[in-house]
Amino acid sequence: MYLMDYHHHTNNSFDSTAIMEEVCRRALENNIKEICFTEHFSVNPLAPTYGHMNFEKYFREIRDCQEQFHSQLTVKAGIELCEPHLLMDQYEQTLKHLHLDFILGSVHNINNQKLRLVGKEHQQHAYQLYFEELYKMVSAADIDVIAHLDLMKRYGYKEFGNYPFADHQEIIEQILKKAIERNIGIEINTSGLRVSLNETLPSMNIIQRYRELGGEILTIGSDSHKAETVGAGLVEAYQLAKECGFNYIYKFDKRKAIPVAI
Ligand SMILES: [Zn+2]
Ligand SMILES: [Zn+2]
Repeated sequence: MYLMDYHHHTNNSFDSTAIMEEVCRRALENNIKEICFTEHFSVNPLAPTYGHMNFEKYFREIRDCQEQFHSQLTVKAGIELCEPHLLMDQYEQTLKHLHLDFILGSVHNINNQKLRLVGKEHQQHAYQLYFEELYKMVSAADIDVIAHLDLMKRYGYKEFGNYPFADHQEIIEQILKKAIERNIGIEINTSGLRVSLNETLPSMNIIQRYRELGGEILTIGSDSHKAETVGAGLVEAYQLAKECGFNYIYKFDKRKAIPVAI
């Protein structure tokens, strides 16, 4: 199997201390054939990640790893944007000069409030607020793939419980249809398998619904912030993708989606 991890952080992200070379070495050991780094980035001064990213350092490390692991491991340069539907001009100005392979779009904050705090304040209703913000993102942002589509549950499941799919099916389907219309994919994010939540983000019913609605672009990522967990859960996620009716997983090159048979 051509294993690819399309969501990984290093010390180029504010919340990771992982060294890129070390992550690549571990990836090789774990039989991963391709890795795309997706560092946090925001142009919003109120976002926790603001000001951390040094693109010169990031691309130098990408080039070094591409040379060092050449022919054994394909290394791609991606990014994970916070609320890319806001401050769109600033995002465009910053990103247009960069040669990124892949752009993940994330809602990590609503009205500059972290999801964890949104959950504390609004409890179960936070799920609706989150999906509404995500719909705005998918309607406007220049991204390739929606990261961890039902992320709110990461903060909600312990405090006020997971969300009933049926309660939010309408807005979720609007998100998926808009994504398909705009040629934006979704990911299977395996980080939820490493905590007691014990499910992927998004859950299987969303992945299945995306497929039923005609969605094709699917990536898989560990969202790992440490070398030790590079590729964690990938094999399970490939299996899940097959169960949901997918015959291809996608990789990206200079933001072009390329199918890989599974
Ligand atoms: Zn994220
Ligand atoms: Zn991430």
